[in-house]
Amino acid sequence: MDFTYTEEDIAFREEVRAFLREQLPADIAQKASRHQRLEKTDYIRWHKALTARGWGAPSWPKEYGGTGWTPLQKLIFEVESYRAGAPRLLPFGLTMIGPVLMKYASQAQKDHFLPRILNMEDWWCQGYSEPGAGSDLASLKTRAVREGDHYVVNGQKTWNTLGQHADWIFCLVRTDTESKPQEGISMLLIDMKTPGVTVRPIVTLDGGAEINEVWFDNVKVPVGNLVGEENRGWTYAKYLLGHERTNIAGLGHCNRELAMLKAHARESVGNDGRPLIEDVRLRDRIARIEMDIMALEMLLLRVATAAVGTDPSTQASILKIRGSEIQQALATLQMEVAGPQAWPYSPAWMHADAEESGPGPAFAPGNTAGYFDMRKTTIYGGSTEVQKNIIAKIVLG
Ligand SMILES: Cc1cc2nc3c(=O)[nH]c(=O)nc-3n(C[C@H](O)[C@H](O)[C@H](O)COP(=O)(O)OP(=O)(O)OC[C@H]3O[C@@H](n4cnc5c(N)ncnc54)[C@H](O)[C@@H]3O)c2cc1C
Repeated sequence: MDFTYTEEDIAFREEVRAFLREQLPADIAQKASRHQRLEKTDYIRWHKALTARGWGAPSWPKEYGGTGWTPLQKLIFEVESYRAGAPRLLPFGLTMIGPVLMKYASQAQKDHFLPRILNMEDWWCQGYSEPGAGSDLASLKTRAVREGDHYVVNGQKTWNTLGQHADWIFCLVRTDTESKPQEGISMLLIDMKTPGVTVRPIVTLDGGAEINEVWFDNVKVPVGNLVGEENRGWTYAKYLLGHERTNIAGLGHCNRELAMLKAHARESVGNDGRPLIEDVRLRDRIARIEMDIMALEMLLLRVATAAVGTDPSTQASILKIRGSEIQQALATLQMEVAGPQAWPYSPAWMHADAEESGPGPAFAPGNTAGYFDMRKTTIYGGSTEVQKNIIAKIVLG
């Protein structure tokens, strides 16, 4: 496989850079450079700017309004976007439920939901995990009982990301309690405004309230919101997880954090009065991470190219492990560069109008928040241990 950048690729990269220079709002880019929290309006503003340019769905085929980009173009776009400080494109509609709908949904569902995802008229969230059903997802208990032309849903989802903003949730529910656990699961699309849906925040280690519990109390869902066939939800769920894990590799994020790490190491001064970047042991550790990121890029390109038209779940587990480990290593080194001047976590700092005060370099509070935030990466989307089980099963049989 040839991953050399062609003249077209280089021209494409320039086009992306020019677009980012002109269209990315400075206040959003500044938040990224300080590890500050983005508001719902920030995500929507950026998505709409991309949609106006025809780039709202980089990974979708043209027939659904996507870009039709090659894997390399998608990667260039991701890397350049992060480098410029653009927000990540929210995965829940674009790279989770979107591809599932394209492959398994009815024509009516495709016609209704896909354009709305493309234009970000609907904000989606993911309703898979439950208390006691995370790694062992097939043991989920949220129950959907068919009554005429509706399902009646009762139960609880947890660790639901950004559900407080969501219009819709794609939800795994139990529709059959008699068969094997995997054979009694269905996927429902549920309007978050339906009576009986309650969202309660969970405060995380970094002080944020980005994740939630979602409760369903006799929630009526039209039968037309079932994806595919009843009791075949496990197949659709696995297809979606493959896309989620590829997405979590986060090459653009890694490159941006590496650049920030180097900048912070230039800015900080060691005990000998010299910039930290001149410390050979630190340079060695930065170089190792940089090599890991280069290897991740190659791996990602191989998977992205091979994944066209195939089930990406196998290689996705490898990518998920490597990407999340690198993200954590970068966050750890960023904290170490702040050294004794690292701040205690400051929730106030996470907002754009935060005052810059306190000891240490200006980057320190953001790095602290980033360090805590990155603890999640080896858990969400399926923990590292579970990914290793998947790889072992496939390799060792
Ligand atoms: C920040 C964040 C955001 C999330 N967002 C969402 C979301 O939007 N929607 C959603 O549905 N879910 C979401 N999740 C849930 C996530 O998918 C689960 O946390 C994850 O699958 C692990 O499940 P669990 O938390 O129940 O841990 P458990 O399954 O209880 O695991 C506990 C520990 O045991 C280990 N373990 C479990 N089983 C095995 C095994 N067979 N072999 C070896 N080790 C094992 C795990 O690795 C882990 O270390 C999110 C999680 C986090 C942290």
